[in-house]
Amino acid sequence: MAEKLYFITGSQDLYGEKTLEEVAADSREIAAYLDQKLKDTVSIEWKPTVRNSEEILRVCREASADDACVGVITWMHTFSPAKMWIKGLQILSKPLMHLHTQANERLPYDTIDMDFMNLNQSAHGDREYGFIVSRLGIPHEVAVGFYRDEDVLSQLRRFAQVAKAIAYSKNLKVAMFGSNMREVAVTDGDRVESQIRYGWEVNYYGIGDLAARIDSISEKEVDEKIAEYRRIYDMPTKGLDAVREQARYEVGLSRFLTEGGFGAYTDTFQDLHGLKQLPGLATQRMMANGYGFGAEGDYKTAALGAVLGRMAEGRNGATGFMEDYTYDFADELVLGAHMLEVSPSFAASKPKIEVHQLGIGGKDAPARLVFDGVKGAGVAVCMTDMGDRFRLIAAEIELVEQPKPMPKLPVARIMWKIKPDLKTGAAAWLYAGGGHHTVVSTALSLEDIRLFAKLTKTELVEIDEATDLKTLHVQLKR
Ligand code: MN
Repeated sequence: MAEKLYFITGSQDLYGEKTLEEVAADSREIAAYLDQKLKDTVSIEWKPTVRNSEEILRVCREASADDACVGVITWMHTFSPAKMWIKGLQILSKPLMHLHTQANERLPYDTIDMDFMNLNQSAHGDREYGFIVSRLGIPHEVAVGFYRDEDVLSQLRRFAQVAKAIAYSKNLKVAMFGSNMREVAVTDGDRVESQIRYGWEVNYYGIGDLAARIDSISEKEVDEKIAEYRRIYDMPTKGLDAVREQARYEVGLSRFLTEGGFGAYTDTFQDLHGLKQLPGLATQRMMANGYGFGAEGDYKTAALGAVLGRMAEGRNGATGFMEDYTYDFADELVLGAHMLEVSPSFAASKPKIEVHQLGIGGKDAPARLVFDGVKGAGVAVCMTDMGDRFRLIAAEIELVEQPKPMPKLPVARIMWKIKPDLKTGAAAWLYAGGGHHTVVSTALSLEDIRLFAKLTKTELVEIDEATDLKTLHVQLKR
């Protein structure tokens, strides 16, 4: 399904037919221009000018009911009395962009007259409209500027990507194989509330259900998977049986999740009945194929990973599950990894498949992909359940090259610097109650997360170059 944004232009009947014809012509031209410029991300569907509360209600109803419509762009070419917008906006269920633009970039000094003023008065009309959106408390984004400006286009593109991610979120299903790790707090949460707020249908399956699916995978299917691994990874010289086992998990997981329409899943090393190994290589491959994942039953991180992965589609960079593991205090570095499950999208070079004992969970030595990580600017995002609300914590980070080899570390890893510095950034993260599991992305920025938080009405704690602990304490007390 090709996603689209409705482009809705507001006016009223007061101006007469000729002005309304010009409004329609200008808005068509703007919508067509945006459609052309944003076509890799979303299509823009022009809607006839709305002139009264009935027409506004009708188009808002249509937008809300149209599965392909992920959001709405509104613009007041002329004045459009905003009481007319109340009924429509109250039932609009899609993310809202208020585009504050004009058909003309510059004033026509030599020819400007009152007709021009009456036609091109978004400076006036958008203020009337902006008031009612604000008064109704509807979360929305405002973009200001000539519609052909690059920064306006990039703001619209970001809005489209976040709106697409929100639409995806509303239909996301998450399979939990097993439950949350025993006694662990931060990875747990209110699944009813997260379904109400974000749409996530999070349901539990016995690991035996997955084991049965895995047992049904044929040797031929495993052979094909191994051939694929040989093409893209360095294979180990011994332990091929363990690799075959993970290949079987990958095919089984893929089949289970596809059949059930799932976009994310969790597992836990405490509940692996019927599996010989913890899924390592298999889960790394699933993440590389776009599935959200959370270890130890962390359904929030799994779902968030899938949603942020969708938001990052079409951009360069990696997005995936991560865990803050250990520090180099002297160099102010964080080493991020997990027992096994790090997405190969973070690999700086060709990953190696290795087989090692896990030292936890008492299962067979699992196969996993091992690699050093990419460099570059990124963001680490975590969602916690604060009891009466969800909180997103997002930190700007800089992924850096691993300073020295780690020949004895048998897992994939990335390293980063946290902003503004390790002491302040980590303290801010801890004060905010941020967990050890995150989604790290080098494709997304804090602006993307901020927009997502705004449009989903989620509290957001931002950690960046400007973070200072005094200001943070004021924010957290609210
Ligand atoms: Mn973990």
